[in-house]
Amino acid sequence: MIQETIFSIDLPMGEEFFIKRIRFKPKDYSTKRISIVSGIHGDELEGQYVTYLLIQFLNQYADKLAGIIDIYPSINSVGIDSIERLHVPSEIDINRAFPGSPSGLLPYRIAYNLVEAVKGSEIAIDIHSSNIFLKEIPQVRISQENANNLKSLAEQLNVDFIWIHEAVTVLQSTFSHSMNKLGTKTLVVEMGVGMRITQEYCHQLFEGIIHLLVRNGFLKLEYHKPIKKPICSIDGEVYFFNADKPGIFIPDTEHNKYVLEGDIIGRIISPIDGNLTSEIKSPCNGLVFTLREYPVVYEGSLIARLYREII
Ligand SMILES: [Zn+2]
Repeated sequence: MIQETIFSIDLPMGEEFFIKRIRFKPKDYSTKRISIVSGIHGDELEGQYVTYLLIQFLNQYADKLAGIIDIYPSINSVGIDSIERLHVPSEIDINRAFPGSPSGLLPYRIAYNLVEAVKGSEIAIDIHSSNIFLKEIPQVRISQENANNLKSLAEQLNVDFIWIHEAVTVLQSTFSHSMNKLGTKTLVVEMGVGMRITQEYCHQLFEGIIHLLVRNGFLKLEYHKPIKKPICSIDGEVYFFNADKPGIFIPDTEHNKYVLEGDIIGRIISPIDGNLTSEIKSPCNGLVFTLREYPVVYEGSLIARLYREII
C-alpha cells in the first residue's frame, strides 16, 4: 500500500488542502488500473466506511493483486471536516466543476487534478450517498448515452437498482461524464443518506466492488459469494412524489419495501393546528426506492420515488 498526495495547495490559515490516493500495486509490472473515488460531496459519508473496508481487505490480500487499485477516499476533505456538501468556502459543487481547470478557484483545480490522476484507468467507481433529505437503496446511475457501455459492468456491483436516466446539461460537468468521455468506464453509486453511515449498504457495496475487482482481473482470488441481480429502470416506470403542501412529513411505509396500489406512503401534518394536511397514496404496486428522511417539507419537496416493473 502506497499513500500518495496527488494534489496539495496552501490555505489562508497555514493549513494545507490535499487529495490523498491509496495505491495498491501488484508485484509484477502492470498498467491495468481501476480507481475508486469517494467524498466529492462533503456531507456524504457512506463512502468513507466503504473505502475503509476496501483498504483493510486489500492490505490482507496484497499478494493477490493483478492490477493497480487506486482509492481516493475523501476528495472534498475540507467539506468532510465540516460536513458541508459543497466546497468550503467557495460553496461550489465540485461535481459541477469537471473537467476543471489547472488554475483559478480551488474546486476547479481539485476537479482538474482528479481527472489527471484517474485518466487512463480502465474503470472508475464514484461513491455518493444521496443527501441529508432522501434515503436511497444501493444503486448505479447511468446516463442514457453510456447505457450500452456500462450496464453489464453495473450489474457486477451487487446493487439493488440500475437507474438509466436522460442526460441533462448539468450532468455534463460531473466527474463521471468527464471520465466516460476520456474512455474510463465510470459508474456512479448512490446509496443511503447524507451525514450517516448505513452499515448494511456499505457492506453490500464492498462485496460488490470485490466481486467486480475479481471479475475484471484486478484481483486473483477465489471469490464466489452470490451477488444481487439489480432491477433496471428501463424495465419499468419511475414515479416521483412531491409535497403538495408544506408541513412535516411522517412516513407510513418503510424505505426499500414494496407497496400496493392505494397504500399510504406517508402524511404531511401541521403541528400548528393539529391537522392532517395531505396524504400520499401509491397509485400502483411498486418498490419505494427513495424515501424522504428529512421531515420538513415545502411545496414541491421530493417525498419518495417508486419503481413499478412492467412485465
Ligand atoms: Zn454526491
